[in-house]
Amino acid sequence: MTSGVTQPTDIREVAVIGLGLMGSGIAELVARSGRRVSAIEVDRSFLDQGMARLHASLDRAVSRGKLTDTARDEVLARIRPTDNVAAGVGGADLVIEAIPERMELKRALFARLDEACRADAILATNTSSLSITEIAGGTRYPARVAGLHFFNPAPVMKLVEVISTVLTAPETAGTLTRLSADLGKTPVAVTDRAGFIVNALLLPYLNHAIHLLETAQATREDIDKAATVGLGLPMGPLTLLDLIGLDTCLAVLETLQDEFGGTRYVHAPLLRKLCDARLFGRKSGRGFYDYRRQSPAADHGPSPVPGEVALIRERNGRLDELAGQIAAVGISVVPQPSGQTGLVIVAADPRHRVLDAALAAGHPADVVGVHFVEVGDGKPGLAELVLPDVTAAGTAAKAAALAARIGLNAVISRDRPGFLLEALAYAQFNDAVRMFQDGYASPADIDTAMMLGCGYPRGPFQMLDEAGAANVVSVLDAMHAATGDPAFTPVPLLAEYATAGSRFRAGTGG
Ligand code: NAD
Repeated sequence: MTSGVTQPTDIREVAVIGLGLMGSGIAELVARSGRRVSAIEVDRSFLDQGMARLHASLDRAVSRGKLTDTARDEVLARIRPTDNVAAGVGGADLVIEAIPERMELKRALFARLDEACRADAILATNTSSLSITEIAGGTRYPARVAGLHFFNPAPVMKLVEVISTVLTAPETAGTLTRLSADLGKTPVAVTDRAGFIVNALLLPYLNHAIHLLETAQATREDIDKAATVGLGLPMGPLTLLDLIGLDTCLAVLETLQDEFGGTRYVHAPLLRKLCDARLFGRKSGRGFYDYRRQSPAADHGPSPVPGEVALIRERNGRLDELAGQIAAVGISVVPQPSGQTGLVIVAADPRHRVLDAALAAGHPADVVGVHFVEVGDGKPGLAELVLPDVTAAGTAAKAAALAARIGLNAVISRDRPGFLLEALAYAQFNDAVRMFQDGYASPADIDTAMMLGCGYPRGPFQMLDEAGAANVVSVLDAMHAATGDPAFTPVPLLAEYATAGSRFRAGTGG
């Protein structure tokens, strides 16, 4: 490794430091590729815990038929556990650091690595958001320091962000990129900026979901359902926050806030309160959800399905199908409210308040707005049931009961522009365009990163193109006007694409 271009095959011995959630997965992945691994922890007890996690993961792979008994034993034979950093890293071609997300710990460790590693060893950090430039700054050979950001669980998730600082040698980044591909991953190369691609887009979206919850826009279940049913994401934002760990999410938001400022990364007060209460999510047993006991299903008694529904149809036929579905279950549908009407349905548009249509219909206390979100792939869509604050106390229950009777996949939202799904998704699209506008990453790379790092079925730019830039801009404008929050102002490049009617992923390579 002293001269020329380092090939993945030249990286034969890898030291992984920190065998927690991430490090144990990274050690497994590297050992499964045939390389020798030094697995390093602070002391014997953490080492035993980390190795137990690694054993359990390999055992699962065997029981699922993905690995033979013999192959598992060979993988384990390639891993050398130790609590002696200097001994563990001495012969390493590559060191991957995966200790907790705290700058002082990482800088202290890298100072030790500087002494203990070979001068030509590559030093990589798995940090989620900290400045790699600052970590590298404390070493003698910053040209060989870079970020190698895996996703949880490391053996499974396909994305690796390869991060270069201004001091990283191109050969270092090149070697890590080729190595990632050799490990079966899809590398995306980026420069050192807080949160890189994925966390810079994911964390403000998660934070926004907490804002929606704490301002009573919807229940936690409905916020999560809007994301899974409406966007096709593998889990809702509040469930994902609990999985990542609320303390980690708070730390990443603070780093993003320090770097970018503005209002988008200011953590929701509820996030801090849950952290103060040490409710960190799944790992501590409780966060937004309680994992220690099964919460009993809420029992609201028999559903008060109304006998007559007034449905104010639109000229464009948007609610015609709904009228047919309601009539098909024996509920009478009338075009205007009468004395018998239990519920008044109007079409809801995320750019406008439902309140105005409710007042025009003459029965504001009984009005629910319905907005259908189309999801691709022939999957049933999401119905957002939107309730102005002036509706009567029982209207939400009636609307939910009607939705259940006719088999709609529905969520209930307060009457604020963007409702649930558009509020969450379009604000993230705006962040993604800002990232592209800043020259940080291309739409194609951003889409790849979000699909392979977070399990998105389609990337944010693909979804944005489907929704239409002009439509996204008008919803964001309405959100901005309603909240006064400058974070929702459409970024100039998005406004330009909207004016030109252009797509972000049009043409070859997007
Ligand atoms: P973790 O707390 O599960 O594991 C960290 C481990 O490092 C612990 O086992 C701890 O004993 C050990 N450790 C601490 N100081 C050490 C030292 N000086 N030498 C050796 N071992 C030491 O944390 P994690 O979730 O695995 O995160 C590790 C890093 O990976 C962080 O930088 C984090 O931001 C990043 N990361 C986390 C995730 C995630 O989803 N949790 C995803 C990608 C990246």
